[in-house]
Amino acid sequence: MADNANQSFFNDVCSFFDHAAQYTQHPSGLLDQIKACNSVYRFRFPIRKGDGFEVIDAWRVEHSHHMSPTKGGIRYSEMVNEDEVMALAALMTYKCAIVNVPFGGAKGGIKINTKNYTIAELETITRRYTVELVKKNFIGPAIDVPAPDYGSGEREMSWIADTYNTMNPGQLDSLGCVTGKPISLHGIMGRKEATGRGVAISIRECVDVAEDMKPLGLTPGLDGKRVIVQGLGNVGSNAAKFLIEFGATVVGLCEYEGAIYNEDGLDLKEVMEHRKETGSILGFGGARLQFANPAEGLEQDCDILVPAALENQITSANIDRIQAKIIAEAANGPTSPEAADRFIAKGGLIIPDMYCNAGGVTVSYFEWLKNLSHVSFGRMDKRYDETANKNLVNLVEKLTGVSLSTEQRSLVIRGASELELVNSGLEETMIHSYHDIRHVKNNDNRINDLRTAAFVMAINKIAVSYMNMGIWP
Ligand code: NAD
Repeated sequence: MADNANQSFFNDVCSFFDHAAQYTQHPSGLLDQIKACNSVYRFRFPIRKGDGFEVIDAWRVEHSHHMSPTKGGIRYSEMVNEDEVMALAALMTYKCAIVNVPFGGAKGGIKINTKNYTIAELETITRRYTVELVKKNFIGPAIDVPAPDYGSGEREMSWIADTYNTMNPGQLDSLGCVTGKPISLHGIMGRKEATGRGVAISIRECVDVAEDMKPLGLTPGLDGKRVIVQGLGNVGSNAAKFLIEFGATVVGLCEYEGAIYNEDGLDLKEVMEHRKETGSILGFGGARLQFANPAEGLEQDCDILVPAALENQITSANIDRIQAKIIAEAANGPTSPEAADRFIAKGGLIIPDMYCNAGGVTVSYFEWLKNLSHVSFGRMDKRYDETANKNLVNLVEKLTGVSLSTEQRSLVIRGASELELVNSGLEETMIHSYHDIRHVKNNDNRINDLRTAAFVMAINKIAVSYMNMGIWP
């Protein structure tokens, strides 16, 4: 697959789709329906800025209605455009199918550089964006549910929830209109870290398979694996944190201002503190090498490269200089189709975005369920489980004459908190999905990469939904 001369991210996603579709048995009309973006809403609205006005460009794309609601983040970026939002919406459809989250894919975009706006202006933009979505029925707990993406977070999700609520008084499930909300506004424990945690779990799962590590010349397990992470935002910083927790060594970090490297490892916390104080990762005392051009950071020696910033970072222009054996796509679309082909041809392994970063939408699904049920996870059963476990331990102690220590007792008795349940559901989803994808790959000797296998799996599941609706025989 060649690099797209017109730099269309949506075409890149479609070319990955077309490549995988040849390994499925579905009629071309059905494949066309799965691939197409169902609804593309482009709009503009004015905001007051300084003494005048500014017109803001924005989008919401619902890629697939084979399941309702549709789901996907809102990107705040001056580079955002219709093609990018369509591509990201399509990836959401496939992502949800892969991790068995019952949503269609969607995505939103607001074309602004957040650094150029005050908090009050960002609030005006976000609230007005939400009003526009409400007017056209592009938001609602059963319609389309946004979430954070590049440039947005809990704060923006609160504004969206509040605006939607104000416009829909008395709607019982209205808080399920958006996920990624703060806990105080009925968000869920663990959502903020979920995408990064999921990325780290996906990498751990991948490197634990000895049979797959052998051809890469790597030993199984994350212990001591050298990792470079691009992007220290929500996804990148959390992925790095959990990878370190799982035993990996972060040797390189890249941000838009530059990159730093130390083959013996970088202290993530100290780097983050240094960046907070100075506004840059450059000049960090623990770095042996530093690069003013952040792209050079990607090309340094490591086992695993984790692009967690934006799309199109690894292309035919730099793929031959990438030294990593594994690329774990924490960002959406970081590797162009040609670069991916060349990397796999030289024996590399790619953990594809639509699986690798699916932890965010998985926990967003849990948050949506919590909002619909109006009760937090663990609230009904935590105390009940503790009492039942306590009775059981008391009985076993009495029958055996063996007494547990206080620590042992509390470990055995303890009921699960919301955070523990969320993390457990996330881990189960990431582990299970990885082996499902690997199974599809290993069961068809024409498929030689995980992305194609993931697409085949997604296409088959979405096709079944359409068939069950009676749309296709
Ligand atoms: P974010 O805004 O929190 O962080 C992105 C970071 O990347 C920023 O710190 C930015 O300065 C940095 N960056 C930008 N350009 C760079 C460059 N050229 N080199 C190095 N660093 C650069 O965004 P995020 O939420 O962490 O999202 C990152 C990626 O993960 C996006 O592709 C997004 O679509 C994807 N993603 C996010 C979520 C989520 O839950 N937030 C879920 C799934 C996928």
